Amino acid sequence: MRLALLGPPGAGKGTQASRICNVFNLLHLSSGDILRAEKMAGTLIGRKVRDFIDNGLLVPDDLMIGIMREKILPLKQGFVLDGFPRTLPQAEALKDMLDGIYKPLGLVLNFVVDAEILARRFEGRRVCPVCLTVYHLDTVPPKVPGKCDNDGCEQVVRPDDSPEVVRKRIQTYQESMAPLIAYYAQQGNFKTINASGNPDEVTKQVLEKVRRHFELDWPQ
Ligand code: AMP
Repeated sequence: MRLALLGPPGAGKGTQASRICNVFNLLHLSSGDILRAEKMAGTLIGRKVRDFIDNGLLVPDDLMIGIMREKILPLKQGFVLDGFPRTLPQAEALKDMLDGIYKPLGLVLNFVVDAEILARRFEGRRVCPVCLTVYHLDTVPPKVPGKCDNDGCEQVVRPDDSPEVVRKRIQTYQESMAPLIAYYAQQGNFKTINASGNPDEVTKQVLEKVRRHFELDWPQ
């Protein structure tokens, strides 16, 4: 099973991608997490992408496509793409690379969220700097306030979650996504998710659409 999740920053794609992966035993490939890990490790790629990330700008398509190709092509397992593709050239390159290995995308889910709700999601978002687990003060709080459930590390606000950068990221997203959504909408494997609800409501909707689309049995 191969899926891609589209949606603005803060739409909850990361949370839902992890849950889909747990249920169907898939690999979660978050382009944002991959880039942040490179940046933190100070690799050549990390140094190339740092300024784009910190300013809420998209990493250039050629670089981004190369990074994702390295991750996707060796995979034996099904996967959920989260944050990639983000532009029409990325979507076309993804199609070419997957067609080349006879493993096309099965389903594209487009997460749509009310603008006011989106703003509040950023204010409350926290992340573990070590294992990158994402929390939210309102909806996904850690067991111990301020600490990661997995490793006890102090949670932080992502540098690109600051209000100015968030505004820029949402604007960038809207400009780049319109042609991408039009591209996928004309294909039979595109579904919209109303992602304004709480994470459990959204998960219910997502799993229902995934199961229906792939004609999977429901657990007893
Ligand atoms: P995210 O966590 O998905 O919001 O991504 C954080 C940042 O990484 C974005 O603001 C971009 O700078 C960069 N990024 C992530 N995915 C992509 C992509 N598919 N294309 C270009 N830049 C990306």
